[in-house]
Amino acid sequence: MIEVTKGVSFIPGQDDFIPDSHVYVLGDPASQDLSIVDAGLVGKGKYKMGAIRKMGIDPSAIKRVIMTHTHLDHIGCLAEILGELPEAELWVQTLEAEQLEQGDERTVHGLEMFRSMCEMQFGIKPGDFTFQVHRKLEGGESLDIGGMTWEVIHIPGHSMGGIALYNAPQKILIPGDVVYADYAIGRFDLYGADASALKKSLFNLAELEVDILLPGHNRIVQGLPPGYILQTAKQWEVYLT
Ligand SMILES: [Zn+2]
Repeated sequence: MIEVTKGVSFIPGQDDFIPDSHVYVLGDPASQDLSIVDAGLVGKGKYKMGAIRKMGIDPSAIKRVIMTHTHLDHIGCLAEILGELPEAELWVQTLEAEQLEQGDERTVHGLEMFRSMCEMQFGIKPGDFTFQVHRKLEGGESLDIGGMTWEVIHIPGHSMGGIALYNAPQKILIPGDVVYADYAIGRFDLYGADASALKKSLFNLAELEVDILLPGHNRIVQGLPPGYILQTAKQWEVYLT
């Protein structure tokens, strides 16, 4: 685990058969009010929790898991992590929260083909991704957690209930899989994806001043060039109709 900046640590995903999402730990450790953003791939819970313990964080200081969205590579090991954090809450954007509560796994798997592949590869069963969500986020909330303020921005397109977390004072953006380093964006062919919504979401994010970009996969960027997201949005715009 790597400290990115004050109040933000980074556990890199450990890609396997399919990618494993990064995990970010948010909050001033002294606050004892920490949040985890995303979980990761099936089977990666031990690795993620081990990394947290190695940082000297007492798991009981982790009060919630906030999901940027609920694709399998982000939610696969959520049950493993929550099993070690019985007090922690689960916060998810409303559209995907309702699916989790109803046991609707179409967003989790993205494609029927992936469902059968992953059932064979990981031994997962229908019903494994039914969760109680403690707080449903709409977008537009300002979360005062762990001595920091994070704005919730609903950014549909890669998935219907995708959110970004934005910390204005330190100009930190956690956009899930909507925008990555190296002018890459998330795929928009899975269940619940919407190319034109993704375009709108990218242009929304382009209005933020971002210095630190912490995406769900691949490298993180500190010292992001001004206008980076706008340039990325413009590069992809023609494909996003
Ligand atoms: Zn995704």
